[in-house]
Amino acid sequence: MLRKSCAALALAAAALSAHAEFPDRPITLIVPFPAGGPTDIVGRVAAAKAGEILGQQIVVENRTGASGTIGMAATARAKPDGYTVGLATVSTHGTAPHLFPKLAYDPVKDFTPISNLVTSPNILAVNPAFPAKDLAGFVAHVRANPGKDGYANAGAGGVNDLGMIWFLQIIDGKMNSISYRGSAPALTDTVAGVVPAIFDNFPSTLPYVKSGHLRALAITGNARNPRLPGLPTFAELGYRDYDVTAWYGVVAPAGLPDAVRDKLAQAFAQAVRDPATAAKMEEAGAFPLGNTPAEFAAQIRTEKDRWQRVIQQADIKIQ
Ligand code: GLU
Repeated sequence: MLRKSCAALALAAAALSAHAEFPDRPITLIVPFPAGGPTDIVGRVAAAKAGEILGQQIVVENRTGASGTIGMAATARAKPDGYTVGLATVSTHGTAPHLFPKLAYDPVKDFTPISNLVTSPNILAVNPAFPAKDLAGFVAHVRANPGKDGYANAGAGGVNDLGMIWFLQIIDGKMNSISYRGSAPALTDTVAGVVPAIFDNFPSTLPYVKSGHLRALAITGNARNPRLPGLPTFAELGYRDYDVTAWYGVVAPAGLPDAVRDKLAQAFAQAVRDPATAAKMEEAGAFPLGNTPAEFAAQIRTEKDRWQRVIQQADIKIQ
């Protein structure tokens, strides 16, 4: 009897010390969108600081395609040991699950939420050659030219595609969806004038607006963003029920031990709240969050349900 309980104690101690030592080698953070896009920007800034806190490097691996769902499927399939995590977004966990009939994961059951790092508004911008100077001009132009122009987005069925499809329904306009693997290539073509308009997460578009390569027309959210205080919100321009928020949060495969989950969550939350890291996020136009696993889990459910309602009510289908 005594020998048995000693053995059980030894096993428990071994398990504890295995967790206590986590991490004893580099961690991979799968970023499901290309380098230079908002997910990549947020992922790299957070990974650098969280790695410092954990005493191990966090290596960013871009695994792109299908609106981020390829990288997320790889995250879900990884070993749940904390050494492979992924950066989920509103596209991978909120919108795409309702639009991709053959999605290789369940956004709730197949993941252990760790921490939602930051949120970001979205922005509608046009190439400076586009005739519209403001949102009213854009709406008038689109209504007068149904189906003539296209808008670039970070992936079919992702939040930028869906956000624009929803807005076009509200204004009764028609544009063609031109999908890319992510914001970075979508922006390249909009700046080059290949596609005249883009609906994008704020951090990746902001530098092009600042440099005059793109003209911003409106931003989502209930307040103007301090990085572009002159840019009106959709709400103040009369589109009160139209709100599209992007977010980027760390998830691990389902079945991650609680001790490892909590260690990762504390490191990432501490990282995005670190003054220098938070300043970098704010400089990019995003808002640091760093919530708990329970809060993030609740948020994923709410976002999934919210987008399901939007998609059903507006009867949105990807083109
Ligand atoms: N718009 C995508 C999302 O919010 C991210 C695009 C990118 O990082 O390139 O899911």
